[in-house]
Amino acid sequence: MAGFKLTYATMFNPPEALHKGFDLAVARLKANLGREYSMIIDGKDVFADEKIEDRSPVNTDWVLARLQKGNAQHANMAIAAARKAFPGWSRTPWKDRVRLVRKAASIIEKRIFELGAAMALEVGKNRMESLGDVQETADLMSYSALMMEQNQGFIKPMGKDKLIGYDATNISVLRPYGVWLIVSPFNFPFALTGGPTGAALVAGNTVVIKPATDTAWIVRLYAECLRDAGFPAGVVNFVTGPGSTLGQALVDNPQVDGATFTGSFDVGMKMFRDFANRNYVRPIVLELGGKNPAIVSRHANLDDAATGIIRSAFGLQGQKCSAASRVLVEEPVYTDLVARLKDKTEKLAMGDPTERATYLGPVVNQSSYNDFKNFTEEISQAGGKFLTGGHVKTGGIFDKGYYCEPTLVTDLPFSHRLWQYEMFLPITTIGRVSNLDQAMKIANDVNYGLTAGFYGSEKEAEWFFDKIEAGVTYANRPQGATTGAWPGFQPFGGWKGSGASGKNGGGYPYVQLYMHEQIRTLIRPAKAKVAQTRKMKPSKSKSTKKGSGKAAGRKSKRA
Ligand code: NAP
Ligand code: MG
Repeated sequence: MAGFKLTYATMFNPPEALHKGFDLAVARLKANLGREYSMIIDGKDVFADEKIEDRSPVNTDWVLARLQKGNAQHANMAIAAARKAFPGWSRTPWKDRVRLVRKAASIIEKRIFELGAAMALEVGKNRMESLGDVQETADLMSYSALMMEQNQGFIKPMGKDKLIGYDATNISVLRPYGVWLIVSPFNFPFALTGGPTGAALVAGNTVVIKPATDTAWIVRLYAECLRDAGFPAGVVNFVTGPGSTLGQALVDNPQVDGATFTGSFDVGMKMFRDFANRNYVRPIVLELGGKNPAIVSRHANLDDAATGIIRSAFGLQGQKCSAASRVLVEEPVYTDLVARLKDKTEKLAMGDPTERATYLGPVVNQSSYNDFKNFTEEISQAGGKFLTGGHVKTGGIFDKGYYCEPTLVTDLPFSHRLWQYEMFLPITTIGRVSNLDQAMKIANDVNYGLTAGFYGSEKEAEWFFDKIEAGVTYANRPQGATTGAWPGFQPFGGWKGSGASGKNGGGYPYVQLYMHEQIRTLIRPAKAKVAQTRKMKPSKSKSTKKGSGKAAGRKSKRA
């Protein structure tokens, strides 16, 4: 991507070269679909007896790749390989680990078009979102490397306690835990594998990666970037197979020392409980679901509000953990806002997500497609009205994939369960409130606390930031009411049922989650110090007196 750096901001105005690069990559990839891909364990290609056929949700006639249906035995092999590699990797100087993580990030950037094209075909993400996911991964990995560097490898001299007759040195060292398991979801398969992997590796852990089965191909391409960067064998292991069998075996293996899970609340909570089943507590970073509200005040700029809400409701077909799935609008501006939301939604283009004009692609699989039909039925029966959408799309290409209309719902009673349940589809419910306090009460009355958006005056925005229970909050943002966090700008993580570490991904205290602290206190008799100081003195005063000439000469010889 010479001369152009993709960020959330530049995504709104990409240069022609980006489109050309992407189109070429799609054509190249489509001419070469259906290959078989191995797992990678201990640096070797490993094959299972059973295979997984990975079809595209864009057009289910397209077989994208054949992957391995790994089992419990493969899970255990991968953990054993990671354990074997840990002593060597954890003692590799941190600067070398930083260098390798950066190298992997730069390989990802070089392959951005090819990776973005595969992402669009496998996830159904539109082209800008696909490229964004890939770029974000490189940025998250680089950020963890930068944090390591800015903190000098997290080796920090502490205070010297005054001990009569002794000299004390106290050093805090953050050290890796060991084998780190990374389980990622289908919707940001690259960033939510790569962000945790980059942090775990730079910190000195070895990793086992288990992707969502729907998106195992794109994560295999991620693992290839790491392999090509040259991590030693066993430092990065990649396995594929069902969560319920291979995934569960990874969680149950007591040789795992820490884990990062990103996915649904139910699976994450089960993993949290199962992971507790060992003789002591191990760290687990959980990033779970969301039910993110956008609140619109009577003082809002309604055009910005409508633009931001629609982007966040229907980007990636509503399948973002940060999607704006609830809209709460103050009575005086309700009718006006609702009309704008309808108008903007009806202008969104749906189709093949690799095509430039497409905003909405398909949902990820048959099960999500069936969910859409069931939820819309349930909404109608409960008295909800479809302002727009409400049906799956049919005819032409739509019959080949899983296409669901972007759907806005009004008049669903606040007491209905779908105001609280994460549907993870292009369905957003809109409710009328008589004041902002009522909106806030409803906004916070859920199990989740991931992202939230607000539109109104600046004074109201301060009130919103103070009251809302969420880890990522935005006010007056037309670029996205609740979505679009970007590394370096909006570290991403949730409160309550949306996350468990209290430190956001891509934030400055994130990489520390992958290390435990060791305090190193070394005591020497004070005598030794006095003798040493005496010995040092003459040479120190000599070099100061005679200036830099000789001393500098000696120094450069040694260097
Ligand atoms: P999911 O169904 O919970 O699956 C997540 C991962 O867990 C997949 O790799 C899955 O493998 C695996 N898995 C399933 N059962 C397992 C088990 N018993 N043991 C170990 N692993 C198991 O989530 P998803 O549908 O992929 O993703 C959508 C969810 O992720 C939404 O709830 C969304 O809000 C959440 N999410 C959260 C964030 C965040 O940062 N907070 C970001 C993105 C997404 P299989 O695919 O093989 O079943
Ligand atoms: Mg698939």
